Amino acid sequence: MSQFRTAYGNTYSENGWRMCNREACERIYIPGADNTFLAAMIVRSGPSEVVLRAWATWYHRNVERLDLYKAGVGDDWGWSAVNDVANSNHLSGTALDFNAVQYPWGSRTMPTARKQKIREGLNLFQDNIFWGADWPRADEMHYQLNRGTASGDGASNKLIAFARDLNAGYLGLLAGVSVPPTIPTPAPVSRPTLRRGSTGGDVTYLQGLLNRMFASYSKLIVDGDFGPATESVVRQVQSRSNLAVDGIVGPATWRVLGVK
Ligand SMILES: [Zn+2]
Repeated sequence: MSQFRTAYGNTYSENGWRMCNREACERIYIPGADNTFLAAMIVRSGPSEVVLRAWATWYHRNVERLDLYKAGVGDDWGWSAVNDVANSNHLSGTALDFNAVQYPWGSRTMPTARKQKIREGLNLFQDNIFWGADWPRADEMHYQLNRGTASGDGASNKLIAFARDLNAGYLGLLAGVSVPPTIPTPAPVSRPTLRRGSTGGDVTYLQGLLNRMFASYSKLIVDGDFGPATESVVRQVQSRSNLAVDGIVGPATWRVLGVK
């Protein structure tokens, strides 16, 4: 498969980056201090990978822990094959969502001190990172390569120079973080596996959860009946979370929804 694609009729995403396939991306790992809590997100390879990995590392060390694999899978997202925003920068592998469950799209829930800390980081990153909280419709989980970081089908000279600085030791973020640490075996979850045709209280719970967490694209009737509409939302969540897209709510999908 080629590196580039057209997504929803768009050749470029909102920040000027070429829309790309998974082949143009790689997985970044953010180990915690004890090498157990870590995040893994898929981002565009090259200078964008360097800058986004550095940003995730800075955030993890200075703002709050990113802990995707705390329970086997989680809520830190990068590149996605599909998106409910047609020119989303997730479609070009140049956007990250951190601790998405805590920060629902369209809400402003982040404490002031944390926001101030993030502003410090954005300054250190010299205008290369844009924060979704600065959109009129807040997206506090969301960070992306800013406009001006792309040129043609690749990185701009500005981004290339900044990635070089990071690799040379600027902010001390990238040393010694390369090998994926061991991923712990997740514990079982408390809810049963649900699929098309499932009914009852667990389905009601699932539908309510989806509507609250993904209000932008989940507008389900909470009727306890797992039909095509519920399955469609589940597929969207799975795709954005880089899970197998099968429309079945098993342990990995429950964990993405914060269910232990
Ligand atoms: Zn996002």
